[in-house]
Amino acid sequence: MVNHSCEPNAVVVNDGPIVTLRSLKAISSNEEIFISYIDNTEPYSRRQKELKDRYFFTCTCVKCSKGHDTTSDEWAGPFDKISQEMKDFADSQGQTNPALLDPSNSVGDDDDAKRLQILQTLAYEKLDTARKPGNPSLTASELEEGFKICHDTNIWPLHRQPYPALRHELMVSLLEKGDYLAAALHGIKTYFLIDPILYRQENHPVRIIHKWTLSMSFLFLLSGPEYEDALSKMDKQGVNAVAITWALLREVNKGVNFSHGESSSFAKKVWEKMAEVGNGLGGGDLRQLTRLETEAAQQWQSFKEMASWTEF
Ligand SMILES: [Zn+2]
Repeated sequence: MVNHSCEPNAVVVNDGPIVTLRSLKAISSNEEIFISYIDNTEPYSRRQKELKDRYFFTCTCVKCSKGHDTTSDEWAGPFDKISQEMKDFADSQGQTNPALLDPSNSVGDDDDAKRLQILQTLAYEKLDTARKPGNPSLTASELEEGFKICHDTNIWPLHRQPYPALRHELMVSLLEKGDYLAAALHGIKTYFLIDPILYRQENHPVRIIHKWTLSMSFLFLLSGPEYEDALSKMDKQGVNAVAITWALLREVNKGVNFSHGESSSFAKKVWEKMAEVGNGLGGGDLRQLTRLETEAAQQWQSFKEMASWTEF
């Protein structure tokens, strides 16, 4: 049994029936190995509650010893900068439902902190409802409402939960709907602005899976004439979707050997997809693929700027 830390140095990766323990950084021989039993990107009070409820202990790990003073608990501005609209919304919701002052979402004691507490409880409720299997249109509307709470609050950083989790669920539902450009834009935001803060290790398994999902949304955009408008919009901004798709796949292929292991079925799947796409794009000519990589490198900044195409 491996002990828990909210700042772990290892992670459990499932590969079908096989469970492997993979390091997130160099670990010396006398160093203890820790994994996180829970989603360690959650704010302090929520982590504490979940560990107590499910595993019956009070976490005193390095991260928890910093309390609310970590990136997981950050706000993007002082509490009085909450938009008036969301202050009013929190007040009206709080009056009808006092249970929204859920202690596990506590962020402080003053009036605005209480409003944030209510808003955070509501945003998590939307996420929980959306994650339940069932009606896809209900899922989409719950996600949008949760998303709107975080966005409209005005001081909610992109990387504070449950904003990133809502975004990821939304991206998955957009992919299911075939709205690949919208999905890709959320993926770009995640790739550049969120994951490097939430998962500092470049090859963290979650980051690699998110990169893979992003490369798939680009690949879908290349799959049919109905996406020509999206591609020409990118083209006008100096982004060649073919080059970017190839560069992303290359990156996933490099990272997956660290995150999941060379012999994992995920690594094999990535390799197969890369071979298939590489054959299609390069037609056996390696120089063509090298040119695409060079092109992608030159366009990387414009690609990053696509994150601003989505208001949220
Ligand atoms: Zn902890």
